[in-house]
Amino acid sequence: MKRLSLVLLAACHGGAATTSAPQTTGKLDTAGMDRSVAPGDDFFAFANGGWIKTHPIPPDKAAYGTGAEVFERTQKRTAELIKTASASPAGSEGKKVGDFYASYMDEAGIAAKGITPLKPTLDAIAAIKDASSLSRALGSTLRADVDVLNTGNFTTQNLFGLWIAQDLDDPSRYSAFLLQGGLVMPSRDYYLEDSPRMVELRTKFQAHVATMLKLAGIAAPDAAAARIVALEKKIAEAHATILDTEDIHKGNNHWTRAELAQRAQGLDWDAFWAAAGLAKQQEFVIWHPIAIPKLAALVRSEPLATWRDYLAYHAIERVAGVLPKAFTDEEFAFFGTALNGVEVQRDRWKRGVDLTSATLGEPVGKLYIAKYFPASEKARAEAMVQAELAAFAVRIDNLAWMTPATKAKAKAKLTALKVGVGYPDHWRDYSGLEIKADDLFGNFERADTFEYQFRIARLGTPVDRGEWVMTPQTVNAVNLPAMNALNFPAAIMQPPFFDPTQPASIDYGSMGSVIGHEISHSFDNTGADFDATGRMLNWWTPEDLAHFKASSEILAKQYSAYAPFPDVHVDGEQTLGENIADTAGLAVAFDAYRASLHGATAPVVDGMTGDQQFFLGFAQGWRTEEREQVLRNQLKNDGHAPAMYRADTVRNVDAWYSAYDIKPGAKLYLPPNERAHIW
Ligand SMILES: [Zn+2]
Repeated sequence: MKRLSLVLLAACHGGAATTSAPQTTGKLDTAGMDRSVAPGDDFFAFANGGWIKTHPIPPDKAAYGTGAEVFERTQKRTAELIKTASASPAGSEGKKVGDFYASYMDEAGIAAKGITPLKPTLDAIAAIKDASSLSRALGSTLRADVDVLNTGNFTTQNLFGLWIAQDLDDPSRYSAFLLQGGLVMPSRDYYLEDSPRMVELRTKFQAHVATMLKLAGIAAPDAAAARIVALEKKIAEAHATILDTEDIHKGNNHWTRAELAQRAQGLDWDAFWAAAGLAKQQEFVIWHPIAIPKLAALVRSEPLATWRDYLAYHAIERVAGVLPKAFTDEEFAFFGTALNGVEVQRDRWKRGVDLTSATLGEPVGKLYIAKYFPASEKARAEAMVQAELAAFAVRIDNLAWMTPATKAKAKAKLTALKVGVGYPDHWRDYSGLEIKADDLFGNFERADTFEYQFRIARLGTPVDRGEWVMTPQTVNAVNLPAMNALNFPAAIMQPPFFDPTQPASIDYGSMGSVIGHEISHSFDNTGADFDATGRMLNWWTPEDLAHFKASSEILAKQYSAYAPFPDVHVDGEQTLGENIADTAGLAVAFDAYRASLHGATAPVVDGMTGDQQFFLGFAQGWRTEEREQVLRNQLKNDGHAPAMYRADTVRNVDAWYSAYDIKPGAKLYLPPNERAHIW
């Protein structure tokens, strides 16, 4: 997974009312520091302790901090843009944006329709009578809703997930990747682990399933819920772990359609693919070659009645966000409160803005950049990317351990990197999508189908290297290994990450380290497996690869030693790619910062040298506080280490020691041979 993950929104639906003025003035937040903490003992607390003491997590948020503040500002701006867009001419994209939001805010209309819009789906599920119609029903749920390499979205509630992306062996064409799925809770551990927290969550989950069925008018909901959860437990037992899913060498299995039918018996695959709109597709990449046959076998071994219960519940769950209030409240009670500890549901307008922005991502993005992303900032960011690419090339040249042959390949890859800043080169056409101001459910379904058809229509067409996987209004960034490309959305390029009025030291420490992070993903433990064209290919000499793996191991051990709770620690292997990107990214940002001074001494600001400002800007960018439940979920399911440890990346950079005069004995001190210098 290659994204930056600044704001922890995936699990927590971010956004919240703020009661205090955000410290996003574009300058270092000296008031937010805690100078009673020695920087060498806890750099995160030194940089952020004051702010954290005075800013409890708002009751409607799972996490809070710099990224969340930037997200919040962007959300307010987007809300205004969406409301203004409703006055656009009929048939225009702006009108669709305004009408979608209006349909979300039409609570009375949604309540009046009740569950009626879902009735045809539930009736069709009730009519499933044999293995063939069950396979068809399962195929009709397939969506292109997972992404193994880019956004790291490994999970889907549908029994299988589809990813349409460049083939790993031949990046000039698209392939159809099939992944395991079928769980509503975050991962297999939630169904299988015996810790008190997981046992309690399972009890609450079963009650939640029963409540959803009851709200939808399904008979005998308690007994059905027990059967559904038991089936999901069997699905969980079949599932591969996150570590296995992250391993591209385990996932890259090309099977013909006939091989799949032969190796994964129990499902009528012809019926499945026909219902999924993929009747003609003859080859698939089976990412979970052990789990997928087991899931297919469950289709035959489990009673048809249980599958009908399961499909009915999943059909309700899938659209719960666009059903009447009783459903959305129950959704929040389980996913917000039980799973993540959030106390209060976000205001409806915020949920409406986020859903509009997710559904009509590029049309909303166009509005955003027109108002908030001037050409001058795009040019400034592009220059910073070029400065860091140049700094990275110098670092490659200076690697004492790497052979010239491997260096040449690494530099070719760097040269071929396609960098996108702000927004994509060209925009998607939404003219085929019908949006009505009084039909949220219909809008949701039409948009869902529109998106799926768009994805699967790419099979057999040339690869578009200009395509983005994030919208311009996303506060995040991403590396696309098989495209050898980077996306830096416009919304991350704003204060305090990036600000023309703040010293270059801070821009480089915050936005510069983000840019360095994404460049470095091209050379992390996964990125290093892809060549300049995006082909999965070993371009390393054996000695160089051995050295790279050994220095990665230092980093894995370093992170596995971080334990936010006595019973759980960071998984240094699960988070290795992100930690390599953080470490190399910070080093390259620092080099580029130093180069930007052209030999001059940086001005002292607030009593701090330029180097001190750089590292402080970096650590304040990672300012984040998380609820315990959220942190525990993250440790289990996320490829990113918690933000407080990401801020401690500084301990691998020699210049941090001199900037803050860190000596042996300080808690974060590492002797030079234990600092991870990977790139
Ligand atoms: Zn990343």
